[in-house]
Amino acid sequence: MTCLVAAALTEIGDAWSLRILRSALLGRTRFAQFREDISISRGRLSDRLEHLVAHGLLRAELYSTNRSEYRLTEKALDLYPAIMLLRAWGDKWLRAHRPPAQALIHRCGAALAAKAVCGHCHRKIEAPDCEYSSGTGAIEISKLDLRSTRRSSSANATGKMAESPSANALALIGDRWTFVILRAMFFGASRFDKIQEEIGIARNILASRLNVSAANGLISRALYQSRPSRYEYKLTEKGKDLYGSIISLITWANVWIVKRSQDTVKLRHLPCRHQLKLRVVCSSCGEQISPHEVTVKPLDAVHDRPKRILKPSAQRATKRHKAVVSTKKSRPPRAV
Ligand SMILES: [Zn+2]
Ligand SMILES: [Zn+2]
Repeated sequence: MTCLVAAALTEIGDAWSLRILRSALLGRTRFAQFREDISISRGRLSDRLEHLVAHGLLRAELYSTNRSEYRLTEKALDLYPAIMLLRAWGDKWLRAHRPPAQALIHRCGAALAAKAVCGHCHRKIEAPDCEYSSGTGAIEISKLDLRSTRRSSSANATGKMAESPSANALALIGDRWTFVILRAMFFGASRFDKIQEEIGIARNILASRLNVSAANGLISRALYQSRPSRYEYKLTEKGKDLYGSIISLITWANVWIVKRSQDTVKLRHLPCRHQLKLRVVCSSCGEQISPHEVTVKPLDAVHDRPKRILKPSAQRATKRHKAVVSTKKSRPPRAV
């Protein structure tokens, strides 16, 4: 059973890891800066930094005899569109939480709301617009660590999670199993047995995650058979709106996790029938987003001049990233 969404979320870790990545995208590189930025305990921060370094999302560089700075890798910079889509989703659907302390301003001057579009026909990617076919060499879910990230949901208690809509979104989704269930539903499964067959999850775990997703308003259920009771599950508008994030994670995993091209998940955009080339753009100007073209502005200082989101060192990393992307164009095209 191939599930690149599960694979991608296993690499990212949990909502705390996502918050560290977001903080790194804001230019933080040092242990103390991360702690100050996201109010995380020393033990938890060490644990998540170790995870992110082990999965190639951060690179540790010594800046004194026993202290390291953490730099974003190309692999992490390539996650930026998916993180911005999760942020846009959190901004839209998690209004009940405390609003973020900062606004992200795109270079066009508008507050950034990321949108996933088809690179060929430029239509917005909406559920269920993409056809999905698995690669030949499956990444088996059973080999992935899909333990609950319940640890991360406790972060809500600190009140700090509300400042990061993307991490907030991941915390609400609850754990990676939930995202995997949504992925199965996006691609056609709607009944308990079908979802279970599709993702090979234990019945009790599936039942509990479906209940959590219903309680969070991501899915609704309707009785289609009584004695015994059987339900059909449908994505709500809120659930469907995660489609772009899921497609973006699959696209990222195709590039960074899948080792052989025949193993990639193929996505076809049904409205134009072309193989999907995902673009994540600014909703206002339609330009593709990248971290060095976004500025961060405190919401209580709307008249202040925005600061660059990345420090010069991080911007250099982005330029290196761009250079690598441009050289990649000469390679044989990737499947997605
Ligand atoms: Zn299209
Ligand atoms: Zn824009």
